[in-house]
Amino acid sequence: MIDSHLHGDSRSVEDYEKMSIGGIREAISCSYYPYKITKSSVLITHFKRILYFEKERAEREGIKLNIALGIHPVNVFPKYKLVIEEIEKSINKQEIVAIGEIGLETMSPEEVDIFTKQILIADETKTKVIIHTPRQNKLNTLKKTKEILSENIDPKLVVIDHINSTVVDEVIDEGYLIGLTVQPEKMTSVEAVNIIHNYGFNKFMLNSDSSYSKSDVLSVPKTARLLRIKGYKEKDIEKVSKLNAKNFFKSSS
Ligand SMILES: [Zn+2]
Repeated sequence: MIDSHLHGDSRSVEDYEKMSIGGIREAISCSYYPYKITKSSVLITHFKRILYFEKERAEREGIKLNIALGIHPVNVFPKYKLVIEEIEKSINKQEIVAIGEIGLETMSPEEVDIFTKQILIADETKTKVIIHTPRQNKLNTLKKTKEILSENIDPKLVVIDHINSTVVDEVIDEGYLIGLTVQPEKMTSVEAVNIIHNYGFNKFMLNSDSSYSKSDVLSVPKTARLLRIKGYKEKDIEKVSKLNAKNFFKSSS
């Protein structure tokens, strides 16, 4: 299985071990710094830690960690030019499978500016991109996000994440892939299964978004198990727990 969105650097080695025992073989670890950024060097060091330390830590427990780097909306700060250059270097060196996670949280002009810049780089370099949607004001933020995406990037490069039943209709008929985050304060496995039941298996990828927030590192295997118990076909379960993510990220890994 593939956990298509988490933050490995915020979790313990025991969590990696648990995921590995639970059948997760690969994960996409996204950058996100849990404290206010004032200098580029902080975020760049964070990137290097994920690339050169975290990857190995996960691999020792049997998990291939694929890396996504980007400026998360919570991490916006004024002088970010060097960080953007660092992301571009990682794309050129083929060290990352995506730019992410990026997106909008409050829709401030700074957020919109940094988000748009990163989207344009993704489109230009044909790099995949993982889009965050917030817990608060989800529908309006998603609408604004879609507006920016539609003007600036090929939808095939995009996965929009943390989609739930209240906003799924906004994105289901667009060209984007959709991330379903099963996490204690976001969505239960039951809700994820209901969405998949109603909208099919082709567009979704499951993830735990395991992070500094309350998380369940086993939420992908648990949701796959629930689908199995409910009688869905193994080849369909595999789509949302592995293949859709594998196919989406493979061309850039
Ligand atoms: Zn995240």
